[in-house]
Amino acid sequence: MRLNLVHGTAVARVAPADVLRAQSGSIDYEDTDAAITDQKNVVLTSGHGDCLPVYLYDPTVPAIGLAHAGWRGTLGNIAVETVRAMGLQYSCEPQNLRAWIGPGIGRCCFEVGADVAQSFRDRFDWALDYIDPGPGGKYHIDLKGIIRRQLSDCGVTAVESSELCTVCRSDLFYSYRRNRERERMLAYICLKGDR
Ligand SMILES: [Zn+2]
Repeated sequence: MRLNLVHGTAVARVAPADVLRAQSGSIDYEDTDAAITDQKNVVLTSGHGDCLPVYLYDPTVPAIGLAHAGWRGTLGNIAVETVRAMGLQYSCEPQNLRAWIGPGIGRCCFEVGADVAQSFRDRFDWALDYIDPGPGGKYHIDLKGIIRRQLSDCGVTAVESSELCTVCRSDLFYSYRRNRERERMLAYICLKGDR
């Protein structure tokens, strides 16, 4: 199941009927930046240039989710929207969820203008903890820290994250901000098991 990303906050649910439809290949979800499923052996995927992949796993249901969080999705609380969708669809409790935030652009390299920094301040009253003023009226934003805070505020406390920055680590990752090219990393998650 592949997401066609638009930096929004829509969450797709992959249901048994979708699995049947996908048996001859893959399904693309248009205008969707997150997906959830409780179906076994379904691989949720999304492509990432510098945006952060947020992996969610509830071992008790079990169910999984995958969110694509750039700055717009992070501003729109995409990780929490995905947690909420898992709660609505599969009765997942936030305290049972385990989250991992994969490699993405770090505070070191995510430089934005005052307008973007202000958007985060307007939306989250704690956002200043994750925004550093830089030279030339620019700001550096810690998206990973903001997502961790969003998840913990909604009750997901088992959150781990990669410390790797996709822009800095040209030896490991593609980066849109570094190269302005179309190569992407693929994030994927799957519940393995017998059907
Ligand atoms: Zn960096």
